[in-house]
Amino acid sequence: MATSSNGGSFDERGHAEARLQAAQDATNRPSFVTVQPIADFPSRPRLLARGLTRRCAWCGDRKGYFLGWFKRQERCHSCGHSYRRGDEGFELGALVANMILTFPSVLGAALVYVVLTTPDVSVLGVVIAAGAVGLIGPAIFYPVSFTLWQAIDLWMRRPTPAELAGDGDATL
Ligand SMILES: [Zn+2]
Repeated sequence: MATSSNGGSFDERGHAEARLQAAQDATNRPSFVTVQPIADFPSRPRLLARGLTRRCAWCGDRKGYFLGWFKRQERCHSCGHSYRRGDEGFELGALVANMILTFPSVLGAALVYVVLTTPDVSVLGVVIAAGAVGLIGPAIFYPVSFTLWQAIDLWMRRPTPAELAGDGDATL
C-alpha cells in the first residue's frame, strides 16, 4: 500500500477527506429541507418592509436564511424557499442594494455633522464622519442588502404558482 510522507495511507487520507467533505456538506445543508407552500404572498410594500428589516421576503421569518451577520445558507430556515430563485448573479443585486443603503447614509452623516457644528464646520470633520460611515455602512447593511434585494426580486419577478406551491425554484 502506498504511504504518504506523514505515515498515513492514501486510502486513509481519502477517507478522511471524504468525511471532512461530508461534514462540510452537512454544515452547509439547509436546516429546513421541505419547501413550504406560500398561501399568503405579501403585497409589494410588505415585501419591501420585510426586506428592510432583514426578514425573509417569502415568509417574514426574522432569521431568514442567515446563520450569522455575514453567513447565510441557500434557503430560509422557516419556509425553505431559496433567495436566489435561479439567479446566479444575485450578489450583484445585493451589492447594488448595499450601495443604495450606504450612499445616503454617508451623505446623512456629513449633513448631520455640518448641522451640529455650524457655523464652525471643519472640512476634516466632515470627511472623517462621512468616511467612517462609508467604511462601516457596507458591513452594517450587509444582511439587509440581501433581504432587500430578495424583496425587490420578488417585486419584479413575481413568483410562479409552482414556486408558491413549493414545487421548485424560478429560473431566469
Ligand atoms: Zn422564509
